[in-house]
Amino acid sequence: MPKVFNWQLNREMEYPYEESRPDKQFAAVFNINRCIGCQTCSMADKNTWTFSKGQEYMWWNNVETKPYGGYPQHWDVKLLQMLGPGQWGNGSYHGKTIFEAPIPDDEAVLQPERVLGYLPTDEEYRFPNIYEDTPTGDWTKTTELPEHKLWMFYLQRICNHCTYPGCLAACPRKAIYKREEDGVVLVDQKRCRGYRKCVQACPYKKAMYRANSKVTEKCVACYPRLEKGVAPRCVVACVGKIRLQGWLHTQEKAEPDNPMDYLVHVAKVALPLYPQFGTEPNVYYIPPRWAPRPFLRQLFGPGVDEAIKKYTDPDETLFGLLRLFGTTESIIRRFLVEKQEATGYNEDGDEIIKMPFDEPMYIRPAYDPQFQIERFNEP
Ligand code: SF4
Ligand code: SF4
Repeated sequence: MPKVFNWQLNREMEYPYEESRPDKQFAAVFNINRCIGCQTCSMADKNTWTFSKGQEYMWWNNVETKPYGGYPQHWDVKLLQMLGPGQWGNGSYHGKTIFEAPIPDDEAVLQPERVLGYLPTDEEYRFPNIYEDTPTGDWTKTTELPEHKLWMFYLQRICNHCTYPGCLAACPRKAIYKREEDGVVLVDQKRCRGYRKCVQACPYKKAMYRANSKVTEKCVACYPRLEKGVAPRCVVACVGKIRLQGWLHTQEKAEPDNPMDYLVHVAKVALPLYPQFGTEPNVYYIPPRWAPRPFLRQLFGPGVDEAIKKYTDPDETLFGLLRLFGTTESIIRRFLVEKQEATGYNEDGDEIIKMPFDEPMYIRPAYDPQFQIERFNEP
């Protein structure tokens, strides 16, 4: 099997295909600290893409309550158990990825599997938001930073448009492909024969089988919008303004004035979800500052402590960039923070948004009953 470099693990790993990266990669950053669990993103996505017969159970965007929630239920716990223990040390991951772990023998499988995974049962898809708002911990203790004793948080999930997609690796028909122009991972509906190897292999369970058309469907990153310089529906609709979408480069080619590069590679405040799975996912999270660190390290890797420190006490550039989240439909290609103002520019270099650090305050004139009476009597 070819060896490819996974920067999130800081090591080479096995993958069925050669390393091939787009010049710019679709990426998004979700700030967990700001999410209010309103599910507007889930509904925006459903109303756009999965409102038809056969798609009833499909939530390409879902928001689950951690630690107990999950859609499909237990998706992460199940795979972590299959993968077995792994450890981070000296800046690298020492453990098996889903492409390297031994596949358990299964007599029902005629063809050897390429990727460690499992097919969720119908029961596991029954409740899209099971354990909503259910906390864990000690009910008798107060909730004080840095770690609440009673805690929960919302985890927003879409397809990660992975650099090394598990779904793509597992497809025997080569029906799944990664677009050269932006790294978006799509299913060729004409080639797909509905073997569901992708459903089994996606560690995030974001490839979904449609029973009436007998093919797989998945989040398409709203690519018709991307092609017009407009961010996906779930990003634009977000009430909490927790989402920013853009283009990510590799560490070596990172541009400090590109919002994604800055958050992921420069400030390192946004981290991948379960990097140990090995797919190099391209949705990044600012971890919730109140949750227990060992739990967060398991989800987001060893960068959690530094990321929370940075987020809690941001410098001017980070503070400004965080203010640009959720402020414009257009994709912000570059940003500039100076003089207590954050400015976003599009692909052509045109200014598309400006946000002052302090929003202006307008004081209305004091209440004047005589003025109100006169206005009421105006013809
Ligand atoms: S999240 Fe799953 S469906 Fe999406 S690209 Fe990665 S492996 Fe494929
Ligand atoms: S719309 Fe935004 S705030 Fe609401 S649940 Fe989705 S990510 Fe969270």
